[in-house]
Amino acid sequence: AIPSLVVRTGDQPLARENELLKELRVTGLNEAYPEQRRRFLEWFESPHPYLATGMIVASRDADIFLQALTDGQRCKVVATVAIDGPMHLGHGTPVSILAYFQALGAEIALGFRDELGDLIEARRIMRDSLLMMAAEGLDLSRTHAYLQQDSPPIVRTAFEIGEAIPLSVLNSALGLRLRDSATETFRPLLRLADILHAQQAEAGGPCRTLVVDSIGGDVYVRMARNVAERFGFLKPSALYLRPVRNLTTYNDPQTGGAVEVMTNRVPSGRITYGDDPAEIRRRVGRAYTGGRGTLEEQREKGGNPDPRVCSVSSLHAFYATPDPQEYARLQSRCRSGELLCGECKTSAADRLLEYLREHRSRRDNPSEQARNAANQMAG
Ligand code: SF4
Repeated sequence: AIPSLVVRTGDQPLARENELLKELRVTGLNEAYPEQRRRFLEWFESPHPYLATGMIVASRDADIFLQALTDGQRCKVVATVAIDGPMHLGHGTPVSILAYFQALGAEIALGFRDELGDLIEARRIMRDSLLMMAAEGLDLSRTHAYLQQDSPPIVRTAFEIGEAIPLSVLNSALGLRLRDSATETFRPLLRLADILHAQQAEAGGPCRTLVVDSIGGDVYVRMARNVAERFGFLKPSALYLRPVRNLTTYNDPQTGGAVEVMTNRVPSGRITYGDDPAEIRRRVGRAYTGGRGTLEEQREKGGNPDPRVCSVSSLHAFYATPDPQEYARLQSRCRSGELLCGECKTSAADRLLEYLREHRSRRDNPSEQARNAANQMAG
């Protein structure tokens, strides 16, 4: 049986991060596991900054995937992108990991999931997103991207996987309720199909795969691992990325819990790739921080730069100050009370705007090859 440890937005997943890593029995790579992280980094000549800063919080057998990649075997990195509105900074973080592994020789399989219920709009957003990903360094000519609900091989794989999973297992793993719509039982099968289709004969056959997701996606990875061998597939591995923090403190009226993840459901707490620079500066200026009540208190006791708490620290870690040493210095200056939130926010906004300006200029001038690949994959 798959234990029900699904993480829903509103469950305060970030506050529970370490607790979850223990419950899920994954290899922790965040700040709480410096020795495990140090050993993990030895796999890489030049580690991705998110690995070095602990923004990749855990691995599930990723070392098996890395061994295969090092040995020159055919390997794939798999990810799913939810289309629930415009692309925001939370969508961008896995892309840089995909581009990193692509440069190391892995193939990329990228499923887009329409959560708008509007396939035409979903295709438009998917095309834009692919160009955004190309601007982030992903080579689209070596990427297999598809719209999940509109991809016959994925739907067929979902049906096949569904045959191998009793409804009771799906329900207990995902905490589905009797009043949920019947479609809620099919959606997870599409997520599993994203993971396992990468090893179908038409996709090149069994190979080592690495799922890049947030820790909330582990429930799907565990289900996929449970059924993989029945289909003649290898068990997928996974790396779990910390989400970019929501810039506001927002309590979900449905669950009563705090929404701590950047999401389109809370527009005031997100930054999209198309936002106006003045608006971005305003949002960063008002962002929730780990600062103290008064300047005197902060100078005396220091702030809390934990990116699960301080949304400005989260922006620094992922976009504004991704260099691990520089980020560590920023955190230490915050803890000592030397750095105050006003200065920290100004530098986050300046650097973020610079990053977005360069990103937009690359996105608006894609290569002919990237444009053709995006048009072809988004239909
Ligand atoms: Fe967060 Fe920066 Fe304030 Fe520290 S100084 S609490 S990192 S905004």
